[in-house]
Amino acid sequence: PFDVLIVGGGPAGASAAIYAARKGIRTGIVAERFGGQVMDTLGIENFVSVKETEGPKLVAALEEHVRSYDVDIINLQRAESLKRDELIEIKLESGATLKSKTVIIATGARWKELNVPGEREYRGKGVAYCPHCDGPLFKGKNVAVIGGGNSGVEAAIDLAGIVGHVTLIEYDTKLRADAVLQNKLFSLPNVTVVINAQTTEVTGADKVNGLIYKDRATGLDHKLELEGVFVQIGLLPNTDWLKGTVELSKFGEIKVDSHGQTSLPGVFAAGDVTTVPYKQIIIAMGEGSKASLGAFDYLIRQ
Ligand code: FAD
Repeated sequence: PFDVLIVGGGPAGASAAIYAARKGIRTGIVAERFGGQVMDTLGIENFVSVKETEGPKLVAALEEHVRSYDVDIINLQRAESLKRDELIEIKLESGATLKSKTVIIATGARWKELNVPGEREYRGKGVAYCPHCDGPLFKGKNVAVIGGGNSGVEAAIDLAGIVGHVTLIEYDTKLRADAVLQNKLFSLPNVTVVINAQTTEVTGADKVNGLIYKDRATGLDHKLELEGVFVQIGLLPNTDWLKGTVELSKFGEIKVDSHGQTSLPGVFAAGDVTTVPYKQIIIAMGEGSKASLGAFDYLIRQ
């Protein structure tokens, strides 16, 4: 069996693998797709100490770093269940079962998509999901934020301080964000809020140049001219395969303590899949190394 088996090969999982392998213990990492969300990222400008890079380039560096240690990398394999006996067993969709004394879950999350024409096409060319990452690229420009929950309203407030103008578009007849956030939003001079509006298309030439929404009351289409669209309709943690094992929050995120320990002894978790706030590469890496040290601490006490 492994001493530490990591499920997920994004920044959290890769970081956990390096920290575990450096303890000289038997380490494995199983991932559906090594690199995770970073593979889908064009420009990265907030990975501290690296002024500017691209997702696939950062993933290649991560993989090289992991491969420089004695780590079993099991790529292109999806975990389908976790069971705790004497050892922790991870069953893969391929039918194989991996056993380990400790497990670190780092299966990440995915942004909910609008599923409208133009969204995929202009991803990274005006369509964005992370204001902390891409906000500064739209300095002085006009953007829209789709979604009036807490994350949408927070994004609109954040962006209003950087961009020229923000239009916040909400499908429902009212915003769902906390009152204090709504009050802040409505106090800003360069924000317009449109409710009861369904976004039907992101338009562009080689990058985004506008957005079409349907007024749900009148059925009429409206076109906005803008250069950026931030989609903020939810982040889904990849925990479907864990139902009934580790304790999850109401949003489906794995609950962890300050050492990355979940509700199940020997099972740790890190990165976007957990309740730890602010989903970022540098945070996922820090949390991955922390969970790994937590697992090592657990092992030496057995
Ligand atoms: P992920 O990167 O999601 O990795 C999850 C891993 O688990 C993957 O290897 C996946 O294949 C695997 N996996 C999932 N389910 C299973 C399963 N059942 N079995 C086996 N393996 C599984 N952050 C920044 O800091 N700066 C940026 O500029 C930035 N830009 C972004 C742009 C885009 C378009 C996106 C989508 C995200 C961006 N982020 C950015 C966020 C950042 O990518 C994430 O916070 C980070 O990747 C989270 O790392 P993670 O390891 O927790 O999860």
